[in-house]
Amino acid sequence: MSNEFPLRKIIHVDMDAFYASVEQLDNPELRGKPIAVGGSSDRGVVSAASYEARKYGVRSAMSSVLAKRNCPDLIFVRARFDRYKEISKQIRSIFYEYTDLVEPLSLDEAYLDVTVNKKGNPSATLIAKEIRARILQETGLNASAGISINKFIAKVASDINKPNGQKTVNPEEVVSFLEELEIRKFYGVGKVTAEKMYRLGIFTGNDLKSKTEGFLEEHFGKSGSYYYNVVRGIHNSPVKPHRIPKSVGAERTFNENLSSEIFMLERLEHITNELEKRLKKSNIAGKTVTLKIKYSDFTLNTRSKTLPYFISDQKLILETAKELLYQEKLQNSVRLLGISLANLNTEKKERTKEVKEVVSVQLKFEF
Ligand SMILES: [Mg+2]
Repeated sequence: MSNEFPLRKIIHVDMDAFYASVEQLDNPELRGKPIAVGGSSDRGVVSAASYEARKYGVRSAMSSVLAKRNCPDLIFVRARFDRYKEISKQIRSIFYEYTDLVEPLSLDEAYLDVTVNKKGNPSATLIAKEIRARILQETGLNASAGISINKFIAKVASDINKPNGQKTVNPEEVVSFLEELEIRKFYGVGKVTAEKMYRLGIFTGNDLKSKTEGFLEEHFGKSGSYYYNVVRGIHNSPVKPHRIPKSVGAERTFNENLSSEIFMLERLEHITNELEKRLKKSNIAGKTVTLKIKYSDFTLNTRSKTLPYFISDQKLILETAKELLYQEKLQNSVRLLGISLANLNTEKKERTKEVKEVVSVQLKFEF
């Protein structure tokens, strides 16, 4: 074990069915019942499902129509984001009692680096247990946790004993854990990538490990080297306490699907106005404009263009977005349009040296 290798103790905390659990907490009548947070209209989408609803195959991001078909007794509850934010704040303040290195991924998920922590507790496993107990005590909600040497493994591990459980992958277990892991459980491998992996004969971490970096880059582009490294336990991304946004965007879902580009231009104007407001508020400009098109069958298409200079002006963004809209023929009628700006002037080019070393396990490292 070389001294440069940053062996860390990372916890990924993830609330269980967060929005749905909050609704069941606040409204006892909903407890034990299949509920979905989201709109019940024809155009509604489920943003969270209770575990009772998941038994019927109701999932987040599913259309409400399909959810109702899967589970006829499903109860739809309107989202109350202010309430979720309030609880999220409560949870974060618990995290900060242990470490300032907290990186929220969303309202209900965060990474914590507890290698050095305010309680002087050498065991990340026990810290995770304590944090989950505190969350339950103070909010009445269950959380799960994953504990390991990097963010990637912690994130994957938090799913394993969910709900209301935790899983530690100790340094000496990392290699076998990753080798045995099903490819669809790798964080960053979505449905489409998983299918591509299957076609290449990659079903487990072990299969992935047998491929060269060149092979993976050839088939998966930049992500190839990410896959090559994570399966070897290499993921040096630090827990970033102050999240600098990578992109700023605005989008709109329409009441009726649009099939004419003329109507879409009008909507793009509204969206770029909204986007400009957001950019001005934080004094942000960016170089890459991305147009997101969600079709009525829910398939997603994104088109991007990178300019040689920073822009934040509504007219310039709109001009680029128009160009992207006309770049390709539309496949179907459109239910949502979004525009985002990335490659922001706020991004500091971090020059963290990537330490490339395979995890070795000789060191006694208390977890
Ligand atoms: Mg969650």
